[in-house]
Amino acid sequence: DAVWPRPPKTRIFTVANQKGGVGKTTTSVNLAAALSMHGQRVLVVDLDPQGNASTALSIDHRGDVPDMYKVLVEDVPLEEVVKEVPDMPGLYCAPATIDLAGAEIELVSMVAREARLQRALNAYGADEFDYILIDCPPSLGLLTVNALMAANELLIPIQCEYYALEGLGQLLRNVDLVRAHLNPTLDLSTILLTMYDGRTRLASQVAEEVRSHFSGTVLNTVIPRSVRVSEAPSYGQSVMTYDPGSSGAMAYMDAAREIAYRGAVV
Ligand code: ADP
Ligand code: MG
Repeated sequence: DAVWPRPPKTRIFTVANQKGGVGKTTTSVNLAAALSMHGQRVLVVDLDPQGNASTALSIDHRGDVPDMYKVLVEDVPLEEVVKEVPDMPGLYCAPATIDLAGAEIELVSMVAREARLQRALNAYGADEFDYILIDCPPSLGLLTVNALMAANELLIPIQCEYYALEGLGQLLRNVDLVRAHLNPTLDLSTILLTMYDGRTRLASQVAEEVRSHFSGTVLNTVIPRSVRVSEAPSYGQSVMTYDPGSSGAMAYMDAAREIAYRGAVV
């Protein structure tokens, strides 16, 4: 299966969880790379001022590089910001610089402050991509709300650790609010269990608990904890190219395949 089926219309995923360190960025970058390696055109929108997704994809995000701050706050067109990821045909990234930290506050007083990202994606002609993955910061502020409004699907990475489900209720209540007021068709389509350590009973208990709550939403594939996954970003690569044979790369490949074959959700 060298080329996976392309969705009938662009699937826009928000990758969100207000907890830090659960694997949002790792998931965004590696799923995007895996999809692009199977004939999909993919855009990663880095919406975290830390710019970790930009770093992992070797996209410059220092100084006054045009970034998502300029798009959201200064109305710079997205096409002036989007960069091709080196050596990854079909993969693109809209970087975040530290400026984006200010957007959370500056957006507050702006007209249609929740719709800035949606507007930018529409103006860009988002349909030239098969997938857009929006990597969110670890908060439920206006950046994440913009992502939830712009997306048609929500992907929540859950780390298989103690307190994994803590805070999830708050995220889901926010999603309900977004559905009620901003984006009625937002679909929590995908939950991905990350950093699974098969040696611990806790990890399997968490996985079981998440599956019993969310059943079919949870991908069958579980991402194992793997050193190669955590090393890859410092080489400006996804683990898909850094070490394609590693357990982490193979798991992200399987997860991406599951997502692709689940097809578009209307
Ligand atoms: P978030 O974006 O939710 O803050 P990250 O994707 O940055 O989380 O992951 C947090 C840390 O955990 C990073 O240092 C990352 O390299 C590491 N990490 C993520 N997934 C794995 C994994 N499957 N195995 C080992 N380390 C991982
Ligand atoms: Mg992150």
